[in-house]
Amino acid sequence: MKTPESFNFIEDIINQDIVLNKNNKRVETRFPPEPNGHLHIGHAKSICLNFGLAAKYNGVCHLRFDDTNPTKEEAEYVEAIKRDVKWLGFDWGKHLYYTSDYFDKLYVCALELIKKHKAFVCHLSPDEIRQYRGTLTHTGQNSPYRECSIDENLKLFEGMRMGEFEEGSCVLRARIDMSSPNLNMRDPVLYRIIKNTPHHRTGTMWCIYPSYDYSHPISDAIEGITHSICTLEFEDHRPLYDWILNELSSFVCCHPKQIEFARLNLTNTVMSKRKLLELVAVGYVTGWDDPRMPTISGLRRRGYTPEAIRKFCEAIGVAKANSVVDIALLEHCLREDLNLRSPRVMAVLNPLRVVIDNYPEDKHEELDAENNPEDPDMGSRKILFGRVIYIEQNDFCEQPPKKFFRLSPGQEVRLKHAYYIKCAAVIKDEEGKVVEIHCTYDPETKGGWSKDSRKVLGTLHWVSAEHAIPAEVRLYSSLFIKPNPKEAEDLNPNSLIKCTALVEPCLAKASVGSQYQFLRHGYFCVDIDSAPDMLVFNQTVALRDSWAKTQKEIQ
Ligand code: ATP
Ligand code: MG
Repeated sequence: MKTPESFNFIEDIINQDIVLNKNNKRVETRFPPEPNGHLHIGHAKSICLNFGLAAKYNGVCHLRFDDTNPTKEEAEYVEAIKRDVKWLGFDWGKHLYYTSDYFDKLYVCALELIKKHKAFVCHLSPDEIRQYRGTLTHTGQNSPYRECSIDENLKLFEGMRMGEFEEGSCVLRARIDMSSPNLNMRDPVLYRIIKNTPHHRTGTMWCIYPSYDYSHPISDAIEGITHSICTLEFEDHRPLYDWILNELSSFVCCHPKQIEFARLNLTNTVMSKRKLLELVAVGYVTGWDDPRMPTISGLRRRGYTPEAIRKFCEAIGVAKANSVVDIALLEHCLREDLNLRSPRVMAVLNPLRVVIDNYPEDKHEELDAENNPEDPDMGSRKILFGRVIYIEQNDFCEQPPKKFFRLSPGQEVRLKHAYYIKCAAVIKDEEGKVVEIHCTYDPETKGGWSKDSRKVLGTLHWVSAEHAIPAEVRLYSSLFIKPNPKEAEDLNPNSLIKCTALVEPCLAKASVGSQYQFLRHGYFCVDIDSAPDMLVFNQTVALRDSWAKTQKEIQ
């Protein structure tokens, strides 16, 4: 039996609107980033939601830059945001807009509000405006400028536009209700003066800029948006959204429906552009695209795929209640995706030299190694074996604790795809550090299997000393120690560990971004910092899947 399609609460609203034949059954959404930083995984949720709904209902989704604050916004961010949305797999087609495209129209709308005596120029200082606003328990107080005549206000607002007033000396405010229980309705600011900071698109044409609460509903209406989806903190702004469109109903042709959903929060992550900008500015990270950052560019560089991020956004769903999602779920979605697409290779981190004494000195063998046991179509490759190989320092212990299933004196282990080896001798330097071990191999175990079904302790990965190529491997753990980080003190000092490695020669031509599974370690991708003589790999995610494990325990 086919299970009935399930709808989230936003789809329920849209379905209802379609039944009622609202907007001629049209669905038009928008993703409205402010170009004041790079997008993060929280934005990905909003992007997947808005573009996803448009696709599901044969509609369109606009990309609109909410560029109303020249002091914080830059053209560089606009380009980065476009690149990230495209990379996630979404296409706005011809629907690329900027709030700054509407500055003329927004100005005319403001004149209309003044003419209706629904807006006035207020000369109170920002501090006074705050005091007059009141609190949740105390009603607000009318501004002394509230009753100025319409003509006077028209003149003053024109003066603001012409640059006759100092920054901060006056604002245009809506004239609604200073005793409203909703603070957003207590004569909110519609326009403020910003001087001496050219706008990245309109230059010095304007010295007054509309507020988000004022420009957003009008921009939505101008574009014919049907469902204006935003995060929960705007729920209390909805009456203002509707008030503005109602007051301007003769100026704008439609009245979009604002719908709020819970924003994405992730454990051990900060998710605000302001905080992320701080990490970049102070130098805790190397940039917005540092692989530890929860930005789209950071995740991309780390080796995340758009498919994994989209799958994650689908898995978390949309709800009306705020919650914190375990980052293990994001990593789980990533592993599911990478497992299928990543070729397996051997990379030895922190190498230890191993000489196989009974293997002929000048002999080399080509051995078969499958590229991906999950996908036989990915074929196999040849790997080279010789008398001198490297294994990991961690895979050898001279005095092993219990349950150490790796190499130690007298013990036998399997070398993946190769032979069984047994440790015969240990060579140390003057300080007693193990620098080389000597082993014997069993020629009867080629391919890693013994004819007598002899059990070995474990299976190690390795590389041939003569053929391996050097690499730097960057291991990451979360940028913050606390699950719910707030301060810079919550930063994890060991979030990046660099180590030297030797990798299979087949990686010599690996291009930036290409993705591999390093056997026994996890998924790694080639970093942009790679040079012709030194590959650099980012650990995308380790193999261990704590999400899958806890899910199993719950069941
Ligand atoms: P930040 O607080 O990180 O600066 P923002 O809301 O100020 O985010 P905008 O550029 O205004 O950033 O966001 C564009 C869109 O992305 C908005 O519609 C916003 O609601 C949505 N968005 C931002 N953060 C999240 C999040 N964590 N989860 C879901 N949607 C988000
Ligand atoms: Mg915002």
